[in-house]
Amino acid sequence: MNTAYLSLGSNLGGRLEMLQDAVRMLQQQADLEVTRISSIYETDPVGYTDQAAFLNMVVEIKSKLSAKEILTICLETEQNLGRIREFRWGPRCIDLDILLYNNDNIESSKLTIPHPRMHERGFVLVPLLELVADSIHPVTGVPFWKYEEVQKEGVRVWKVIAGVDAFVHLEN
Ligand code: ATP
Ligand code: CA
Ligand code: CA
Repeated sequence: MNTAYLSLGSNLGGRLEMLQDAVRMLQQQADLEVTRISSIYETDPVGYTDQAAFLNMVVEIKSKLSAKEILTICLETEQNLGRIREFRWGPRCIDLDILLYNNDNIESSKLTIPHPRMHERGFVLVPLLELVADSIHPVTGVPFWKYEEVQKEGVRVWKVIAGVDAFVHLEN
């Protein structure tokens, strides 16, 4: 069984519903279980900053599937939720990135794991740390809590969730 961590983000449309739908779609996949989720965070946009605030979260999944198969599920989920790619780092109704897959290091044209920018992003690190407080970055060997982006402003708890079931049934 493999353990992976996915980063989910939305800043267009019903942001919470988008995250909920994405988690529901992951749960519906055969051979994939959503085991734990972080709180929901509201985060200031980084990179291209002239856009609305995001909701971000990290989910833990357990699966027999390969990282490549999980990427396909992530991209299909984005498609099913109507994501249109306009420009890089621009607004999106939903984004699913694979942060970690076990402690593997994968570098192919379509997939890099650990996600190459994860340690530069507070909106990824802060929710991830709720789930893996003591883990180290599999390539750099640096504990995730040591990255300076963890300390920066712009990542605020928006909703604390009791668990996966509570999250998918949450009324807005
Ligand atoms: P960023 O990767 O900086 O977070 P983004 O999420 O906006 O930017 P996308 O347009 O969603 O970028 O993704 C572009 C491509 O990135 C995907 O089609 C996928 O092939 C590739 N990719 C490489 N590594 C990963 C990964 N670990 N998780 C998700 N996609 C990845
Ligand atoms: Ca992304
Ligand atoms: Ca992405």
